[in-house]
Amino acid sequence: MVNVNRKEFMLIAAVILSKPISGESAPSKITIDHAVSNSDLRQKFIDQLVEKESSPYVLSVDYDHDYLKLLEMALDYGNTPEFWQGLRQAGINNKQDLLDFVKSEPMLIADIKQMLVGSKLENAGAMNSHFHLGSYDFGQGKKTKVLVFKLPFEPYKIAELHEIDYTIGSEEIKPILIHPTEESVREVLHHEYTHAEDFYKGIVMTNGLRIGPDNYNSINPKVMNFVVEIRAYIGGIHYTEQFGRDHPAFIEACHMCKGQLKKYQTVLNQITLNTFERQLVQQQVKEIQKVMPLIEIGQRNTLMLHPY
Ligand SMILES: [Zn+2]
Repeated sequence: MVNVNRKEFMLIAAVILSKPISGESAPSKITIDHAVSNSDLRQKFIDQLVEKESSPYVLSVDYDHDYLKLLEMALDYGNTPEFWQGLRQAGINNKQDLLDFVKSEPMLIADIKQMLVGSKLENAGAMNSHFHLGSYDFGQGKKTKVLVFKLPFEPYKIAELHEIDYTIGSEEIKPILIHPTEESVREVLHHEYTHAEDFYKGIVMTNGLRIGPDNYNSINPKVMNFVVEIRAYIGGIHYTEQFGRDHPAFIEACHMCKGQLKKYQTVLNQITLNTFERQLVQQQVKEIQKVMPLIEIGQRNTLMLHPY
């Protein structure tokens, strides 16, 4: 039995009463609109989504607005003595020193962002720690960390609409944008969860082809990227179908998958594949063919979105 005197009881009561009782007085639920307009609320928004849909293969999901968490993550992986040797001369002795230094130098942050312009990461909505930084652990039961960048909270441009006014002969170009929805951010998480599961377990394709720790490093990284990305994008189409085939998240998933296919067509045409790699690509193409009818529906339904 705990002995509480009157004064203590009053203190405890005051603490309990000072907390909001229902969701009415405090914004207990962060909506997508809150998260889009205020980047400070995005971590909480993501936490809410992760609470409802988590992955046993993911250690953490963090929002990274300025790529500083990515820098921190990269330092964990690229922690070599040579790297620190040069920094020590500048008085930077450990990771925290370096992060503090970067944060105190706005120009340095600008430089880091500049480095990312046009890189794969700048165009990435999110990333998975292992795939990008420590892929030597593939298929060995390792959980990954996920970083979500700002892209999923910005409009996604899928096409341009050319409106021609024949009376005066002028042409107006209007981008067709898909505005972020809670469901589209959930799709981004689902995409990363797919990578995390593949990374944890290794991959067994439907025809029995296996990618595991023993053969991962012998596969051309471009082929490997094609396989894991297309698996995740196909997964995104199936995942968002539950929201309706006219839902912006489904339409966006279809466009993104199609865009990736185009990109990889070019990439894969430039390299020579060995027999196993060719089998992997052929099997993945078969998987794509199964979702082509859905992609076409998504593209057709784009017309139902309003251009902005
Ligand atoms: Zn991906």
